Amino acid sequence: MVELEDLPSVGEKTAEKLRDAGFADMMRLATATAKELAVKAEIGEGVAEKVIEAARKSEKIGFETALDVSERRKEVGRISVGSQGFNDLIGGGIETQSITEVFGEFGSGKSQISHELAVTVQLPIEQGGLEGQCVFIDTENTFRPERIIQIADGFELDHEEVLSNIHIARAFNSSHQILMAESINELIQQGNNIKLVIVDSLMAHFRAEYVGRESLAVRQQKLNQHLHALQQIANTYNVAVFITNQVQAKPDAFFGSPTKAIGGHVLGHASTYRIWLKKGLAGKRIARLVDSPHLPEGECVFKITSDGIVD
Ligand code: ADP
Repeated sequence: MVELEDLPSVGEKTAEKLRDAGFADMMRLATATAKELAVKAEIGEGVAEKVIEAARKSEKIGFETALDVSERRKEVGRISVGSQGFNDLIGGGIETQSITEVFGEFGSGKSQISHELAVTVQLPIEQGGLEGQCVFIDTENTFRPERIIQIADGFELDHEEVLSNIHIARAFNSSHQILMAESINELIQQGNNIKLVIVDSLMAHFRAEYVGRESLAVRQQKLNQHLHALQQIANTYNVAVFITNQVQAKPDAFFGSPTKAIGGHVLGHASTYRIWLKKGLAGKRIARLVDSPHLPEGECVFKITSDGIVD
């Protein structure tokens, strides 16, 4: 393995600064921008550029053939949502190396699916998991360990062990939320086998803090930075990112959906999969895949039970 000190223009001091700032491995460095690295590690931008270039060389980052991309796609793991119909809708479960977004009204099941995934990611591969741990960024204080215990019991898992594999970050405002997401890099570098990052809910703080048209540009810029950090973690460490989002009423809509996800184009472009959740009759829920790079649009019905998400 290439160490920081092996890179040209990195001495002991710079290496220490880089490690302290959470840039301890080549892939993390290779996917950083010079500005980001200069600010966080407190080094000159010129040095930062050189270090990044060297890390990219060592990771052989540049053009790659479609065959390489296809090989990397083979490493993509999938995490079961609990319901077979739902899994089929999204190609077998939520994917690593991607951002999956669910949006829907209050009570449509967004937090319930988040809790379910925090458990299923820990299952063995043949049962729909990745034998991995989870980071749960909780922005609205909706995380409930009691619910995890119920779901874990449904899978006959040792619920204490399940709880100990979920790293909770309670985010108090949007800056804190951004910081927590970026510090996941360190958690992984410390040896935690994180395979899933959940942000429930992505937009709540951004929406509350940036009100009015005049602050929209700043909000979108911050949101972009946050999503970029999440995508970087997904790609660098083969992790699945799952985000929940609220909706905004569109009272003037005659056709199509009367509600739409908030977050604008910045979020629309960042999410690889977008799923719209709706309440159905008799406690049922409907999931509709509205955006995917390679799967057809479609719908499925699922239920929320005390054991978790089922068909
Ligand atoms: P949101 O989309 O607002 O995040 P939630 O994921 O919190 O919505 O879903 C809340 C709904 O989940 C409740 O209205 C209830 O129908 C269902 N639910 C929550 N806990 C349980 C449980 N233990 N057993 C069955 N259904 C539950």
